[in-house]
Amino acid sequence: MNNKNQKRIALISVHGDPAIEIGKEEAGGQNVYVRQVGEALGKLGWQVDMFTRKASAEQAKIVEHSENCRTIRLTAGPEEFVPRDNIFGYASEFVEAFLQYQQQTGYRYPLVHTNYWISSWVGMELKKAQSIKQVHTYHSLGAIKYKSVATVPLIASKRLEVEKRVLETAERIVATSPQEKEHMRSHVSTKGNIDIIPCGTDIHRFGAIDSKIARQQLGIPPESKVVFYVGRFDERKGIETLVRAVAQLQLRGKEDIKLIIGGGSRPGQSDGIERDRIEGIVKELGMSDFTSFPGRLGDVDLPVYYAAADVCVVPSHYEPFGLVAIEAMASGTPVVASDVGGLQFTVVPEETGLLAPPKDDAAFAVAIDRILSDTAFRNRLGSSARQRVEDMFSWEGVAKQLGELYTKLMTETSTVVPTKKKAISA
Ligand code: UDP
Repeated sequence: MNNKNQKRIALISVHGDPAIEIGKEEAGGQNVYVRQVGEALGKLGWQVDMFTRKASAEQAKIVEHSENCRTIRLTAGPEEFVPRDNIFGYASEFVEAFLQYQQQTGYRYPLVHTNYWISSWVGMELKKAQSIKQVHTYHSLGAIKYKSVATVPLIASKRLEVEKRVLETAERIVATSPQEKEHMRSHVSTKGNIDIIPCGTDIHRFGAIDSKIARQQLGIPPESKVVFYVGRFDERKGIETLVRAVAQLQLRGKEDIKLIIGGGSRPGQSDGIERDRIEGIVKELGMSDFTSFPGRLGDVDLPVYYAAADVCVVPSHYEPFGLVAIEAMASGTPVVASDVGGLQFTVVPEETGLLAPPKDDAAFAVAIDRILSDTAFRNRLGSSARQRVEDMFSWEGVAKQLGELYTKLMTETSTVVPTKKKAISA
């Protein structure tokens, strides 16, 4: 390894562009994770190149985020938005474009950290072409996801096969919670090496605003009880459960509730259709007067909403980690979440929030009501939530653990010999 390539690593996120605005175009937790991990590693002295697919002609090919960290957009398939279930068809072009980029620049990446199954396939193909170590984060497991959807997409069998192969062959899999590791073991394979390193959040950005000031900024009266959701509009996020739970509180005569449902959507696309469906339920239940849909919440607004909320609700059917929960907790806002996946790790019931069975609107109603009805309980949960995030989930801490893992893997001698010069097609 020459000097130019020392401590140089590639984060690969074919469908989750780390430089894009979060909260729209299917952008969510994975985009945030890659961007924040990349920037935090850059601060620790790593040279971080984050590779993604160019999804429009207007997008810059290279975006510099900081001295050591940038996004590089490779052309693979049409330069337009492609839903994630259709991207795999362009994965082999992505591999070719990556190899070409290396050839043109002379950069070598001794280690790639891949994100989501499509990128894991890219990483495995790169390993066939050159000596490279692979770390992988799933972000979502097909084996779990497909249990909860009505129609399984055509790509499912390929995805399951790739997810098993990467678990068994990557130098290291990063599970973001003990629950996710357990699911890999019980649903994917008992072979392969897994470390647990959680997701993180910006403990400086979240938690810096006083709730009174936040409410003034948003024009919310101090006596209102604010129930907040933010995230993608996707049926699996369980927004319907939240709406039906709040309807029950309203029926019980709970006064002055404000329900805020934040997140971007595109009319006619999957998220726009889900938003219309949710708005329809809100209308049908007579909740339009006290429910608002502020749309995508950007970097400046999001911390204000978390600070203004009495409770943040994460009603997902499944969640491997769930960044929203720790962002709310960092803001001193207790969380009511589904008792699933990574939410069982981040939310400590009765200490930092409450858990309820997924899709169970009555149980969500009870949990939300307990927090709204008891200010002292709410405040106690909120301050323990903040403390838990400070102790366990800062990006700085996450990047330090990842950096230590990369260093360890890069200094281990490789036992795998590249099998061929060129990658095969998808
Ligand atoms: N997000 C945002 N603005 C929005 C909606 C979502 O910034 O309007 C961010 C949110 O703060 C979080 C991420 O998108 O950082 C969603 O991550 P999470 O892990 O909760 O869900 P995923 O999108 O991965 O399913």
